[in-house]
Amino acid sequence: MHSTLAAPAPARYLQPATLPDALAALAAAPFTVLAGGTDFYPGRVGKPVDDVALLDITRVAGLAGISRAGEGWRIGATTTWRELAEADDLPAAFDGLRAAAREVGGAQIQNSGTVAGNLCNASPAADGVPPLLALAAEVELASTAGTRRLPLAQFVLGNRKTARAPHELLTAILIPAWPADARGVFLKLGPRKYLVISIAMVSVVAALDAGGRIARCGIAVGACSAAALSFDTLAQGLVGRTPAEALASLTPADLQGLAPINDVRGSAAYRIDAALVLVRQALAKALGQSTAQAAGATPGQTP
Ligand SMILES: Cc1cc2nc3c(=O)[nH]c(=O)nc-3n(C[C@H](O)[C@H](O)[C@H](O)COP(=O)(O)OP(=O)(O)OC[C@H]3O[C@@H](n4cnc5c(N)ncnc54)[C@H](O)[C@@H]3O)c2cc1C
Repeated sequence: MHSTLAAPAPARYLQPATLPDALAALAAAPFTVLAGGTDFYPGRVGKPVDDVALLDITRVAGLAGISRAGEGWRIGATTTWRELAEADDLPAAFDGLRAAAREVGGAQIQNSGTVAGNLCNASPAADGVPPLLALAAEVELASTAGTRRLPLAQFVLGNRKTARAPHELLTAILIPAWPADARGVFLKLGPRKYLVISIAMVSVVAALDAGGRIARCGIAVGACSAAALSFDTLAQGLVGRTPAEALASLTPADLQGLAPINDVRGSAAYRIDAALVLVRQALAKALGQSTAQAAGATPGQTP
């Protein structure tokens, strides 16, 4: 017996098994790419899906998993948050990204949701963007015309806006090699511990040289502007400093460019204050300093 309550099917649904087939489909007609669906389906609540053509990429061979790519690393487009959280053979530079993976939604979301989908959806509060910016990640975009690479900062352009052309598929996230002792940190401030849409979030990746001075550093702040921002000039300016010098040097002016919204989760002014405190705490943690040392740089500012 047929149920009259059957959900309407999408106008078209393709589930290609190979990358050439997926790219050929995207070149031939407009499709919405579907990975874990954890952004796509909630965004369609109350709206019919029978006007959408879906290209489900979850079965495309070669897009899954985390692998070495030369000196660096490659996160395939269908890699889920759970796979990332459980990848305990990754170097400590990934600790911030893996901490973000453990905080995205709950277990069900982490099981289905992909890191690449998080970037393509381009929410200002996307947890994957700051840790990947701090790691100096690039994205690989493929189409029938070939493959191009873009720094992540040039891919996520604004609220739900990316540099991806409609006929392109994000096939991988590429992360360069970091010094062996580099450590990544991710700090997310929200109104509660779980299932949090961030008020502000910060990621820092940093490594010290043999003399105990900063050798390399990446800093990014999310949920405080339309797209998360990478503070490359600030990070470069910390190279050569001791952790104490670096922590003492941070001022509100270093985070110029943040333009947070006022909403029920926090005012713009609060978000900017919180971001600076989080940057200090994340930098201290990445450099092996105590949080008290970070707080000592500016008494009284703890989110
Ligand atoms: C209850 C709940 C809690 C959540 N909590 C969090 C959270 O704490 N932090 C957070 O950051 N997010 C959160 N999310 C959002 C979501 O789970 C993540 O952004 C997730 O990473 C999206 O991945 P996906 O594979 O499900 O994307 P999908 O929904 O499949 O796709 C998202 C978008 O990206 C496009 N897309 C996906 N993959 C590709 C590709 N390879 N190439 C081109 N385009 C592509 C799709 O067309 C779509 O526009 C939550 C969602 C829910 C429902």
